[in-house]
Amino acid sequence: MDRRDFFKTSLMGAGALAVASGPLGLVRGCAPSAPVKSQTPLHLSFQLGTAVGESLAEKMDYMESLGIEGFEPGGGYLLEHFDEIANEIKNRDIKVSAICAGFDGFILAEDGQKQEFDTSMREIVEAAGKLGSTGVIMVPAFNGQQPCMPHTQATRDYLCEQLHELGEFALKCGTTVILEPLNRAEAFYLRLVSDAAAICRDSKSKGVKCMGDFWHMKEETSDYAAFMSAGTEYLQHVHIASRGNRKMPGEDGALDNYVDGMRALKEMGYDKYISFECGSIGDRSVTVPAAVELLRTQWEQA
Ligand code: MG
Repeated sequence: MDRRDFFKTSLMGAGALAVASGPLGLVRGCAPSAPVKSQTPLHLSFQLGTAVGESLAEKMDYMESLGIEGFEPGGGYLLEHFDEIANEIKNRDIKVSAICAGFDGFILAEDGQKQEFDTSMREIVEAAGKLGSTGVIMVPAFNGQQPCMPHTQATRDYLCEQLHELGEFALKCGTTVILEPLNRAEAFYLRLVSDAAAICRDSKSKGVKCMGDFWHMKEETSDYAAFMSAGTEYLQHVHIASRGNRKMPGEDGALDNYVDGMRALKEMGYDKYISFECGSIGDRSVTVPAAVELLRTQWEQA
């Protein structure tokens, strides 16, 4: 069969199929059932420093008053305040979202820092699982961390193997590990959500997930495409900050537009958290409620 015959046959086959099932049936048969965009709720989360208040209880009260549903502690804080956190969330509509790092060492270290990572990361993962956290955030290697394995295929293969083991451990603990891509000034190794998602896939463990951080996502050419590339299979968490200076969303004015990314999250039916990871130029008692309002408005628009 030459090329022309092949196309003729293929088109005839496609035509017969279309006649048999009708054009609409064909489209329906191929398309995944998309969640209804307008029904995807927004779940917001705060890190410890975001909320107004001194004690954890005061901060939780404040979060509840704003309808914040998730709390993202650092890994060190989680271990030191485990009972206090468990006690505080017991009778509230707030859950532990992700855990923000907090381990020692790093996974791509060429020296004893790798063992430090393995030990301390697993301790945090265990505690995270006990509190029902969505996962523990990690970066494979920051730019300044040395001695670091070279950025090669062999290193990527090693990373996937190590993540597989860690992911399986996290699953047994009832949680996950979440890869965070950063901008190139902080971590050249992993910069794009799609690359993080591909590492999740190649790690072959459902316990290995990834996230996007609107601040670091200046590396992306499209917020929408970045989130879509991970999809709900891999996307486990989102960080948010103002897009000029990493302050409270809204403090950088028109730059703080998240609609394109939010549209992807709504279309894919993302059911995890968007968590504040930012400072504030202004008085938090003013900027935090304004930021929450801004995000809810943009979520509606998306
Ligand atoms: Mg972040």
